[in-house]
Amino acid sequence: MNLYVQVWTGPAHRPTMKTMTDTADLIVVGAGILGLATAWRAHRHGLSVHVIDRADRPVGASIQNFGHACFTAQADDLQDLGAVSADGWAAAAADAGFRASRPGTVLPAVTPVEMQVLEEFHAHRGDDVRLIDRGAVHTMLGNPDLDCVGGAHLPRDMRVNPREAAPALARHLAARGVRFSWRTSVHTVGDGEALTSRGVFHAPQIVVCPGEHLNDTHPDLVTDHDIRTCTLTMALIDRPSGTPADLAMLTGTSMTRYDGIAAMPSVDDLRRELGSREPALTEAIANVMATAVPDGILIGDSHDYDTSPDPFIDAAQSDLLLDRTTRYLGIARPVVRQRWQGRYADSPSTNLVLQHPDDRTTVAVVTSGIGMTLSFGIADLILTGADAPGK
Ligand SMILES: Cc1cc2nc3c(=O)[nH]c(=O)nc-3n(C[C@H](O)[C@H](O)[C@H](O)COP(=O)(O)OP(=O)(O)OC[C@H]3O[C@@H](n4cnc5c(N)ncnc54)[C@H](O)[C@@H]3O)c2cc1C
Repeated sequence: MNLYVQVWTGPAHRPTMKTMTDTADLIVVGAGILGLATAWRAHRHGLSVHVIDRADRPVGASIQNFGHACFTAQADDLQDLGAVSADGWAAAAADAGFRASRPGTVLPAVTPVEMQVLEEFHAHRGDDVRLIDRGAVHTMLGNPDLDCVGGAHLPRDMRVNPREAAPALARHLAARGVRFSWRTSVHTVGDGEALTSRGVFHAPQIVVCPGEHLNDTHPDLVTDHDIRTCTLTMALIDRPSGTPADLAMLTGTSMTRYDGIAAMPSVDDLRRELGSREPALTEAIANVMATAVPDGILIGDSHDYDTSPDPFIDAAQSDLLLDRTTRYLGIARPVVRQRWQGRYADSPSTNLVLQHPDDRTTVAVVTSGIGMTLSFGIADLILTGADAPGK
């Protein structure tokens, strides 16, 4: 298949005693979506895989998010990786029996400047960005009263339920013989050895996907990339019958945040417009968006950056996001079921840390809010030993 499988199957690194209980062809540290996607791809290529996680099930960023695989809005140089990821999501979902659908994303334009940005994005990307009229926006959001000038639909984008996907994939892999060591903290990794709270494990190759916890095993990489934690205010509300069950909505704030759209010439005008029209959202570094899941509608979000964030949710910020999101959806009296603080790794200098500290170790951390979108593509990069796009 590739360089890494060739390395692993070569005589030098092959374990001589396959019966040793603490060996596998590949150890994966972290049972979030990135570690699980890597384990899934490696298992499909016939490798024996051992996944180690400090928790007793996936509870990190991979279940806290929108489940929005938003390929189209990513930067131009991530489009190929997104396509590989999309194929991976579809195949893994079929394999493990969780739902991955492709309803696309709707972006309402509530001002001419927002529409101008979407027109530029359409001119840049062609059919991947379909311009739609006001009536189509109303239908796609289930809100006939939204005051908008039109919008866009991104048909390639996918959706999963984040509370279903990673747990289902872990269960599926365990049932297929992938070994899981839960409640096991990894302290150091190097040269084919993982020192953990439950002993030392060996493998020809070790892939480390610890999300925001990279400091535990690779503090130097944290320093090199200035990695910190991004905290996001999220909520789950009831879904009224009028809101489509496959809703995925981005808005004007999103246009300024996703690299693909944010590269359009009129985005600076939009930033200025949002600064005066929605100063509180601008202050909260908001990305007003929503996706529907079987339990309701996931809404958010705000962004705060810190190396050791406070755990508290700001009630005013949470209410602001609730108000703005439900205005788009025409939900006058939202019923809030849950609120939580989401957390993911962030770096001001890169979207992806993909490093090889030694010949037998790969470290992969998505350092922005796009890990659901690209996880299965990044898993492919990890197993082929390829560099991150743009390098
Ligand atoms: C609120 C929110 C909204 C988001 N929305 C989107 C979205 O719409 N689309 C999108 O593409 N992305 C989104 N993201 C980002 C996405 O969720 C993450 O990029 C992705 O889930 C990261 O996956 P991961 O496997 O790297 O990390 P995680 O899911 O955090 O998993 C890391 C795992 O490693 C384990 N671990 C860490 N350190 C150790 C150790 N030393 N020993 C043992 N185990 C360890 C942890 O227990 C954890 O299970 C969002 C994130 C949040 C928080």
